[in-house]
Amino acid sequence: MNPANIVDCLCDLVKNNLSLHSTSDISSKEREIAQHLCETIVTFNKCKRVEYEEETTLDLYEMSNDYESEVDDTTSHDDDSSEADDELESEEKEREGCNVKGYSLEYMKEVVAYADAKDSSGKRRRSWKTVHHKYKKVPDQAYISRFRNYIEQQGAREKSLMVHDIDIKRWGLKAAKEIKLDEFSASDRWLRNFKGRHGIVSRRILNTDQVGIEKEAHSTRTLSFGGEKKTFGTVASKNASTHSYTVQPTISLDGKQVGPILLCLQEPKGKLGEGVKNKLFKPSNVVITCSASGKLTSSLVAYWRDNCLLPSIGGKCLLLSDSWSAQNDMSLYDKANCQNKHITRIQTPQKTTSDLQPLDVYYNRQMKNFIKRIYNRVALDEIPIHMYERNNIIKIVSLVHNQLSAPIFRQMIRYSWYASGLSKTDPTPFFNINEVCFPPITSHEECSVDNCDDAVLITCAFCSEKFCFHDFFVNYHFHD
Ligand SMILES: [Zn+2]
Ligand SMILES: [Zn+2]
Repeated sequence: MNPANIVDCLCDLVKNNLSLHSTSDISSKEREIAQHLCETIVTFNKCKRVEYEEETTLDLYEMSNDYESEVDDTTSHDDDSSEADDELESEEKEREGCNVKGYSLEYMKEVVAYADAKDSSGKRRRSWKTVHHKYKKVPDQAYISRFRNYIEQQGAREKSLMVHDIDIKRWGLKAAKEIKLDEFSASDRWLRNFKGRHGIVSRRILNTDQVGIEKEAHSTRTLSFGGEKKTFGTVASKNASTHSYTVQPTISLDGKQVGPILLCLQEPKGKLGEGVKNKLFKPSNVVITCSASGKLTSSLVAYWRDNCLLPSIGGKCLLLSDSWSAQNDMSLYDKANCQNKHITRIQTPQKTTSDLQPLDVYYNRQMKNFIKRIYNRVALDEIPIHMYERNNIIKIVSLVHNQLSAPIFRQMIRYSWYASGLSKTDPTPFFNINEVCFPPITSHEECSVDNCDDAVLITCAFCSEKFCFHDFFVNYHFHD
């Protein structure tokens, strides 16, 4: 990667395509952006491969005390960066000299309107000479089309920069009064990302939550009826029969699942023996852990952070999670504990979780519904399989997470944010789990697999093929 080439291309782009011309003096903020741009280009020097990720950012215009350290981070470049800035600045001035710098937008509009005025037969009424006579500041004819381009670009940019607000007050935050949300289109994000570093903080917005999957009535009954009353049904044994495992998914504002899902199995001694570990089914999209209760503990929050979150995010993210005490310890999100990544965590106020958190509002129910559908089929058809065996739990969690990562569910995930009031973009219409995976099946439909005439259980959200329980679950129909 040669930074010089990148700079050359960037100059061409700015000059020819984007018409980003300044008509004012360079401000310290603008200088700061240039500095960030320069730093970014310099980093290309060392890398062999570059990947762009689509990123949706939350822009904080008003910073709370909580964000003070971040503000310091982003504004401290003002003083120590003047040298590199001056270099960029003089280059920029040189280029702008031959472009539209020095003309106000109003002036350009006036010139273009005058030059483009047509007569009744649709022909231009005025020659370049006439235009030049009236507007002497315009040195040659080529400037007319430059002005025209600039005005058009300006309009397009205003449109695509439409800012959606979200109201952070609902999150009960004391200080951050307002968060503005930019929904980027892929093509614009490159330049916009630099804008994002401009005193504003740009990052990914995520929501994560723990979901307990309880055993169904038909399976708990057999477990809890056997002598429980005699032993006074201690809290521990009660939990053991109703709370089989916990999963923790993470979703992003742009409608994706982020990273692998965490699965916490219930193991009586709180750990997996070596023999068990060796026989464990290990799918690529599930990080497996365990506890005695099957619920997450505070040490498992760090485990989730290190194994699910950090490997899956860029340098910055905004993490929304509920007020569950184990994840409230702010040191969990310290840069030093997060591989130097910036994680800003926002906690939902207590007791309001169920309607404020995107996962709770919609996504989790979809996931649970999927799992329930599978369990019900097993129960109804009396399929001889123990769904609460470790490897079957792992398998079903892997399959549901895999199905939910199908592109068709992106709108549904975005809807979760919309429904909780955290995004103002309504993604409806969208398809949910029932519509995509479990549409009403007509009696003549059979499993897509050759020579299988079993009843259809599920329509795959990726390939739209229909599968019976055996071909979907037992044979593990997974899309990479
Ligand atoms: Zn498929
Ligand atoms: Zn089949």
